[in-house]
Amino acid sequence: MEKQYNPYDNVLKVVQEAADILGYSDSDIEAIKYPERELKVSIPVRMDDGTTHVFEGYRIQHSTSRGPAKGGIRFHPAVNADEVRALAAWMTFKCAVVNIPYGGGKGGVVCDPTHLSENEIRAITRRFTAAIAPLIGPEQDIPAPDVGTNAAVMGWMMDTYSMLKGHCIHGVVTGKPIELGGALGRNEATGRGVMFTTKNILHKLNMNVEGTTVAIQGMGNVGSITAKLLHQEGMKIVAVSDVSGGIYNANGLDIPAILAYLAKDRKNLLKDYNEDGMTRISNEELLELDVQVLVPAALENQINGTNADKIKAPVIVEAANGPVASEADEILEKKGTVVVPDILANAGGVVVSYFEWVQNIQSVSWTEEAVNQNLKEIMDPSFEAVWDIAKEKNVTLRTGAYLIAVKRVVDAKAARAIWP
Ligand code: GLU
Repeated sequence: MEKQYNPYDNVLKVVQEAADILGYSDSDIEAIKYPERELKVSIPVRMDDGTTHVFEGYRIQHSTSRGPAKGGIRFHPAVNADEVRALAAWMTFKCAVVNIPYGGGKGGVVCDPTHLSENEIRAITRRFTAAIAPLIGPEQDIPAPDVGTNAAVMGWMMDTYSMLKGHCIHGVVTGKPIELGGALGRNEATGRGVMFTTKNILHKLNMNVEGTTVAIQGMGNVGSITAKLLHQEGMKIVAVSDVSGGIYNANGLDIPAILAYLAKDRKNLLKDYNEDGMTRISNEELLELDVQVLVPAALENQINGTNADKIKAPVIVEAANGPVASEADEILEKKGTVVVPDILANAGGVVVSYFEWVQNIQSVSWTEEAVNQNLKEIMDPSFEAVWDIAKEKNVTLRTGAYLIAVKRVVDAKAARAIWP
């Protein structure tokens, strides 16, 4: 039987590799192999048709060594404990690699928001928030949007938590609507960070930005903003996809038209979009296109042992969390493909979440220019540090990122010492 993909195994593998290079003993890293706390909840919801449906939900805190747990809430049919556990751990190392004072956590509800009404999504959000309320809070664990959730969901979470506590608590979630203390620039932050990262890697590899061909898998928040910003920078986006499949145009797609079409209605899918000169491709075909930069911006395990040797792009920028599985990493490394790892490439979202939380707890608000500038001032040096250590140790950028991140987490743990 084929081995089941478990994303948490991917996390453990790269952490172990980094620990070995850093010269850490088993005892040094034993504790970070386990999530600190896991909560599974059952969420009864009265559906629009009058029936009751019980949804399964999770909040998992991987680490609070460097600060409160931080990480998104995913609403997706494929959510499960192993996935949430891996996503929580990736948040720990993501916050560490960009050196913001957080640990890592993640949550999720097994549901398909594309088949739910707004009322049903709000009901799931409120009951889920109530169920995880004992764990979250501005000083404990701060959720944010992820796949299938957005600012509206964060607004309902903030309201539910505030109602339960009896007063307004802005800092309990980030990625909120601007009216509720959301940060200007947060909606675009992950894509903006991916754009900075893409330009940084092209620069290091002596490749042009102007005219460079790009394929983007996923047109959710991250994929669509990445497409918009890379297009604005002069790159040629030749392919994009969503759950319904992909579209391809060797001369470059009309990105503004695609974004306007998708924004018009959340039910709009690329399978119903048309423009002159485009052809339809599958998500698998998109990954294997002969482009200069491939940006997986959807889910985990998209590039794996089965398709890694068919990937033609010399550069992969991981906008999603965990899109390249460990076994694919080995194949790509041998081929000389450069992979900019998720914990660095997509950290822009959590960095601006941090700015939002800082603004909330100080009751101040920054301009969008200040947010974007501060984001750049974190993303660019973080990229440089990862690049430098990877060159120095002659390892991949992923291993380089983990060398920095694992050291910061282990050092923080050691400085606190094990209690009691
Ligand atoms: N869900 C995003 C991520 O995977 C953002 C998390 C946050 O802002 O806390 O990085």
